[in-house]
Amino acid sequence: MNIVLIGPPGIGKGTAAVKLSKKLNIPHIATGDMLRENVANKTELGIKAKSLMDKGALVPDDLVIGMIKERLQRDDCKNGFILDGFPRTINQAEEIAKVVKTDRVVNIQASDDVIVDRLSKRKVCEQCGFTYHLEYIKPNREGICDKCSGMLYQREDDKPEAVKERLKVYKEKTEPLINYYKEKGLIVAVDGSGTPEEEFELVLKAVS
Ligand code: ADP
Ligand code: ZN
Repeated sequence: MNIVLIGPPGIGKGTAAVKLSKKLNIPHIATGDMLRENVANKTELGIKAKSLMDKGALVPDDLVIGMIKERLQRDDCKNGFILDGFPRTINQAEEIAKVVKTDRVVNIQASDDVIVDRLSKRKVCEQCGFTYHLEYIKPNREGICDKCSGMLYQREDDKPEAVKERLKVYKEKTEPLINYYKEKGLIVAVDGSGTPEEEFELVLKAVS
């Protein structure tokens, strides 16, 4: 099954996607993670993307689309995949529709207050990328990753100014995708304001 997760920043798409990927045994493909990897490795793409990402703006469509098309061609995608953070614009959705079919789009929703609270308490492992939340997904030792003992840090774009920009960009550019997919009969809405466990159960139901 080819699944797309849509929802505002910080709603827990990534956390739900990691679990879903294990459960369904299909890859979790997160454009944000792929871009951060490019930034860390100082690739040409990473160098172009960094300043845009830091301030919460989108990376230009052509760069992201090229990156994802290449990823979807790999062997591990042939039984399905979970897209997280892509598409984020109508243009991206139309481009990707030319190469793969989408079976289900899960729209995870929550109020701005919930989102801002989640992002301000989010910490990420600099080594393995695992995402913590200082209330709901606490590390055992403060500031240290349970999985790999890497250091936890706050993403530049989780700082208040960038969060404001990301919410604005989400409303302008990404929200229109909900109607786009609704018209195609692919959308299932899910409440993202509960705990990570509750959210995962709802996402799982939405794709079953
Ligand atoms: P979020 O927590 O907002 O869902 P992501 O990790 O998905 O964050 O994305 C982080 C940043 O990476 C975005 O703010 C944007 O700059 C860039 N990015 C990720 N996916 C895309 C995309 N599909 N199109 C354009 N930019 C993207
Ligand atoms: Zn780690």
